Amino acid sequence: MQRNTWEAAFEDRRETIIQDWETFLRFPSIGTDPANKADCDACAQWLSNRLQQSGFTAQIVPTTGNPFVYAVRPGNPDKPAILVYGHYDVQPVDPLGDWTTPPFEPTWRNDRLYARGAQDNKGQIFYTICAIETLIAAQNLDRTIIFIIEGEEEFGSDGLNQALDAWRDQIQAEALLVHDTGTVSSGAPTLIMGLRGILQFEFTLQGATHDLHSGVHGGIAPNAAQAAATICASLHDATGRVAVPGFYDGVQPPSDHERELAAADATTPESYCQQTGTTPDGGMRDLPTYERVGFLPTLEINGIHSGYGGPGSKTIIPAQAIIKLSARIVQGQDPQALIDSVCQYIKDQTPPGIKLEITQAHIGGPGLRFAPDAPLLPYAERALAAVKPGENLVHRWEGASIPIVARLAEVSGATPLLTGFGHENDRIHAPNESFSLEQFRNGFLYTCLLLAQR
Ligand SMILES: [Zn+2]
Repeated sequence: MQRNTWEAAFEDRRETIIQDWETFLRFPSIGTDPANKADCDACAQWLSNRLQQSGFTAQIVPTTGNPFVYAVRPGNPDKPAILVYGHYDVQPVDPLGDWTTPPFEPTWRNDRLYARGAQDNKGQIFYTICAIETLIAAQNLDRTIIFIIEGEEEFGSDGLNQALDAWRDQIQAEALLVHDTGTVSSGAPTLIMGLRGILQFEFTLQGATHDLHSGVHGGIAPNAAQAAATICASLHDATGRVAVPGFYDGVQPPSDHERELAAADATTPESYCQQTGTTPDGGMRDLPTYERVGFLPTLEINGIHSGYGGPGSKTIIPAQAIIKLSARIVQGQDPQALIDSVCQYIKDQTPPGIKLEITQAHIGGPGLRFAPDAPLLPYAERALAAVKPGENLVHRWEGASIPIVARLAEVSGATPLLTGFGHENDRIHAPNESFSLEQFRNGFLYTCLLLAQR
């Protein structure tokens, strides 16, 4: 069936879809705040009831934190299942005074619905649910559909992560649909082709037991601030390459096809400067920006803290320094091996007289890269092209991380299909979050066109 069939189906149900979307947004499901635990439970219950009414077998699965909703509707047993992931938890709302209308009282202004979660992720998971209901009603869906909608995405997905292994058999699928991203700034439809993984580190450097007089001890005492500076300066060579031995182990350069697709989405120095106020001169300057962000790992200094930063001067030799680092890693790299290499390197660089303590070395998740010939990808490309005819489809190898996606892909065996209809001006995570009816409807049409029985 064609686009106009699904457009008509949307128009038919438009009033109730909007009403129910607003109901979903009224739950103050701020996942990270214990004060909102009952709201999160109620929101999960609402979702579960909703999916049950649409013919799914749904259940609320308790975790160490907020529950997740698991729902399944069996299809043709000869065809592999589709797993859909989303989250019902939302970011906190402060500063509350900056909201034009209250965050949990959904309000329409100029065809945009304003509320916390309007886009991230309630808006995007809800158009997905509505589209699947529409396909079921039209008897146009023959795949088994499995939903996992969790309540802790905005702060690490711990509960789902821990529970997931027990659900391995129930979530085996061919494709993993994740509608939690946005389009490029031009609004052109965007398919995410990869995500980087993340590692986080914190190191404490201790010299003397207390700050020392810089006159009495200057020239003798080891300086923790200087040690931090020396270590941080040793992390990269003059070309911007990470100097830690083994840091690039497992990295696979992009294929010619990937290069061609990624280059079409390249950042120019001008556009980068407009976005950020600076030039794209960090990292390995000699390589194209798309390769540095999408296909290579990085090690960034997130913070160095030591000594005196207040007004005037204070003549001390700082006793302590803290370094915070994060690495973004790519598919094919072993997160634990990288943790070990980075920690060993920092140990080796620590000057005499300074005691090193590794206060954090955390694996957020591995990197992911999707083959351009992955199953369902051509259907996703066609569906996106049909939603926005005449616009060039963008393939983006994303530099950021969604760690739970890598875990879900690994446990379910599914290939992730990541896309979404968010825009920068939706202001997710900020006051006055919103999502337009147009974006919502595009997401609905895309999901219908992707999943309609072929
Ligand atoms: Zn978010």
